[in-house]
Amino acid sequence: MGTDFPRDLTETDATSASADAAPALHPSTVAVTAGRPAAAPDAPLNTPITMASTYRAGGDVEYGRFGNPTWSAFEDALGQLEGGRALAFSSGLAAVSTVLDLVGQGGKVVAARHSYNGTVMQMADMEARGRLTCVLVDITDTEAVVAACEDAVLVWLESPTNPALEVADIPAITAAAHEAGAYVVVDNTFATPVLQRPLEDDVDIVVHSATKYLSGHSDVLLGAVVTRDEELFSVLKGRRELMGAVPGTFETWLALRGLRTLHLRVERAQSNAAELVRRLGEHPAISEVRYPGFGAIVSIVLSEGAMAADLLTRKTKIWVHATSLGGVESTFERRRRWKTEPATIPDALVRMSVGIEDVEDLWNDLRTALDQLVLPA
Ligand SMILES: *Cc1c(COP(=O)(O)O)cnc(C)c1O
Repeated sequence: MGTDFPRDLTETDATSASADAAPALHPSTVAVTAGRPAAAPDAPLNTPITMASTYRAGGDVEYGRFGNPTWSAFEDALGQLEGGRALAFSSGLAAVSTVLDLVGQGGKVVAARHSYNGTVMQMADMEARGRLTCVLVDITDTEAVVAACEDAVLVWLESPTNPALEVADIPAITAAAHEAGAYVVVDNTFATPVLQRPLEDDVDIVVHSATKYLSGHSDVLLGAVVTRDEELFSVLKGRRELMGAVPGTFETWLALRGLRTLHLRVERAQSNAAELVRRLGEHPAISEVRYPGFGAIVSIVLSEGAMAADLLTRKTKIWVHATSLGGVESTFERRRRWKTEPATIPDALVRMSVGIEDVEDLWNDLRTALDQLVLPA
């Protein structure tokens, strides 16, 4: 079966960059120092927003769809954080589509059944048009995922998943997928490179919705792919040029500005989440708390059902009822309010994106709302 992925993974791998692509500095230092203009007297500390559709002839860029210095600054920083080379896209789904489009006609894709809804819908749409075949798997069942890898060209992982918060054994699955000749993608949106760096586990491509934690302020739509494989990098860059899903200049600038505090935001949101998980688990209005042990996304299931879940999302003052995640502010929603959400997600599940506010304020706001949902015995 044909694939447009550039190389046969069963052959010896001569093209990937070696481990020295990994940054020598700690992520928090990289987040602050990477993607800056070269040091020179009076050079600005920050990369300017370069608004240019074209460039004087004779250089490396030439045209606005081929490159931009502001994109490059963001890509440099994200690439260093993930330990590879990054390319920015107009949205997370633009990055997802560009990678999926590398699957040759009729190729088999193995994917986490609880991947981001838009990703699963994209795959279903491609399958309906005969572009690829898709096998959805439970990523917590490593044996089943490995068995499904036979004849696959691509294994699509998301870990933790959204909003089931399942975690995959990324190194084991990646090794098995490579043995079967399949490429491995990890959507690293939830964990961010502060908590998980899949390229170090030999994953071929990391995908991001930079809309979420990387930008972190709920004001940007942006996506990215990161890889250590030079050949994949140039194929993906070529596809970005041809398919045109290029990022906006201002968006990449804002995302780079957001990246500067990624480590602080993730640490604070994560510690808030861990504390809330401890308290939520004891509240009688909640029958289940899902938390993978890291990150700042928590899913709760309301004992009294979907209506209680809907009520909760309308009764708080600090927690904002909104979709999306990864911003400084705490947001939540009942996921099944979306018709496209799979039936395997409980109807009364509320996904919470814990922000960086004071945890006592977050808890008081939640508890006040939750207390009203407990029916008298
Ligand atoms: C939001 C999201 C996407 C899609 O990104 P957009 O920027 O909204 O296009 C992909 N994957 C995950 C895990 C997401 O949360």
